[in-house]
Amino acid sequence: MARRKKLKNSSLLQVLIGVVILAFITVIGGNLDSDLLDKLQQDVQTDSLENVQDDTTSISSNNAETKVDGNLVVDFIDVGQGDSILIRQGEHAMLIDGGTSECKDDLLSFLKSEGIEKFDYIVGTHPHEDHIGSLDDVVNEYDFDTILFPKVTTTTNTFENLVNAVNSKGKKFTTPLSGTEYTLGDATFKILAPSSDSYQSLNNYSIVIKLTYGNNSFIFTGDAESLSETEILNSFDDLSADVLKLGHHGSTTSTSMKFLNAVSPKYAVVSVGKDNSYNHPTKTTMDKIKDKGIPLYRTDEQGTIECVSDGENITFNVEPGSYNYMGE
Ligand SMILES: [Zn+2]
Repeated sequence: MARRKKLKNSSLLQVLIGVVILAFITVIGGNLDSDLLDKLQQDVQTDSLENVQDDTTSISSNNAETKVDGNLVVDFIDVGQGDSILIRQGEHAMLIDGGTSECKDDLLSFLKSEGIEKFDYIVGTHPHEDHIGSLDDVVNEYDFDTILFPKVTTTTNTFENLVNAVNSKGKKFTTPLSGTEYTLGDATFKILAPSSDSYQSLNNYSIVIKLTYGNNSFIFTGDAESLSETEILNSFDDLSADVLKLGHHGSTTSTSMKFLNAVSPKYAVVSVGKDNSYNHPTKTTMDKIKDKGIPLYRTDEQGTIECVSDGENITFNVEPGSYNYMGE
């Protein structure tokens, strides 16, 4: 009550500060997401000047992110039936998943040929073999700062190999919380999933990431299924992204229409093995992408796909692939 009275007495000062802040918002508002803007404007209209000041600080850094110098390079590595994605920004590197154990030699030689020396982040989206199969070899071979892994364990040799490799490096898994933001050079990425403590399907433990570089953004889904997509839709307002890595290799379990509409990608990528035994990708998913006219890049047709963002535009090193499917 005392604070409110004091603020009322200094209402002229408050109006003046409000005008300055609103002018600031108007100048930089074009680069803000509307939620943050709403929140700021709401704060300006209330007495909570302290919050406004806090938020403007984060806005300034957010605004700076939209002006980037250099490139973000994303490689969707052809690891057969599985996922492995290398992301680089300047000297900073991150690997999301490491394919099956069979792809070890191909994966390591690709990382070597790209001149990778260490990783800021290694991410194991979930403990299935087609995602962490060669991740233990990457861990053994490379120094890294942080390894992100969901809070779930399995009894497979693959998983044990990864745990042993991480332990032998004197490191521990970091369990990312939904909503947490990390920095990769001038890029930032936010954890969209998982947000629940337990799931029936291991796929839904998948760490889902939205990466932003300047005005470009990417969503990497691991094998998250529609249940996780629904949780993401319920938790985050702005899911729009330029590039969507389709969930679960284009299976029917993922890429629900609501999620696809919310992301509304300009480009889609599917990491899938040629003549795989899982019948991925499926007609259901391919039809959704085709009907929306979204160019689709696929590792079974294009091999390793390199995608470069300068913060404004995204270019691919290959032409888009077909909408051919294996299963229904
Ligand atoms: Zn998978």
